[in-house]
Amino acid sequence: MNLAEYKTYLKSSEAKFYYTNKVKNKRKYFFEKFGKKFFLRYFRWRYFFTKKPSLFHIEYKVTTICTLKCKECCHYTPYFENNIKQVPFEKFKIELDKLLKSVDLLYALDLIGGETLLSQDLPKMVKYAQSKHQIKHVNITTNATLLPSDELIKVLKNNKKTIVWISNYSANESLKPKLKIKELVEIFDKNNILYSVSDFENETMPPWEKPPLVLSPGEAKNNFTKTKDCRIHNCHTYANGILYLCPLQFYMLFGKHGYKAENDETVNIMKANPKDVTKSLLAFYNKENFDFCHYCKLPSPEMFIETAEQLEEVK
Ligand code: SF4
Ligand code: SF4
Repeated sequence: MNLAEYKTYLKSSEAKFYYTNKVKNKRKYFFEKFGKKFFLRYFRWRYFFTKKPSLFHIEYKVTTICTLKCKECCHYTPYFENNIKQVPFEKFKIELDKLLKSVDLLYALDLIGGETLLSQDLPKMVKYAQSKHQIKHVNITTNATLLPSDELIKVLKNNKKTIVWISNYSANESLKPKLKIKELVEIFDKNNILYSVSDFENETMPPWEKPPLVLSPGEAKNNFTKTKDCRIHNCHTYANGILYLCPLQFYMLFGKHGYKAENDETVNIMKANPKDVTKSLLAFYNKENFDFCHYCKLPSPEMFIETAEQLEEVK
């Protein structure tokens, strides 16, 4: 990718999210303070010297297991046939280190699930990611059904680099007894931990929309979905040392059977040397359309649905 092409990535919707996003009443992402012009110049300048791209965010899967079974989960979590129960810290460290060798900065590392707090090694992972200068922000997402361990509170306490994103599903009356939002907020306030409660009713989060429908490989032959039309095409997922376009590509290639991706439609971070990985990443991030998207049928825009409707009663 030459500088002109890299500039396209710097102006992409993924990048824009990070220089315009506001975390209500808490703090802002670093580059918002300086504005868009600074952001673009800064990253161009870095690319000029390092010849490596800065990635705006990666969603690292710490588990595919969840405490809820949302029927319209946009990660298809309840439907995995093949699961990652727990990523051990050592595996996480190897995969993260390898990725960092091929990129300049990783602006935000999102640790996600399933339910992220189910991960026993989460405190070690967070601590390690916080120690990396190349990583500017560490995000943890939780569905608020679990409380953090003492060990996790310790690594989050007073840390300005890490923020916990609490998904508030209390618009769903049947889930209310399971949700520990009040307790989480108390713990985080008491320990000076950064957090944001995403509220689907008060529009700090858009309401739930139907996720793309995953077609069978046979059905996909006559379906032509454009990547840019999909609202989750920037949710790049990193799991098992492979960078996937989105959580649904990961679901189809890892969690199901019978789906295939062209070589340039995922990036195997672990299999190549760092220079080749950099090249593949640059091509991947500049690719406009992924044939893989033909496996998905997109819902009508703004097809809003009930928040976190459950497949069955969760015990
Ligand atoms: S809480 Fe619901 S939406 Fe979130 S990962 Fe679990 S099943 Fe999916
Ligand atoms: S594979 Fe493409 S269409 Fe399907 S969810 Fe991912 S980005 Fe969207």
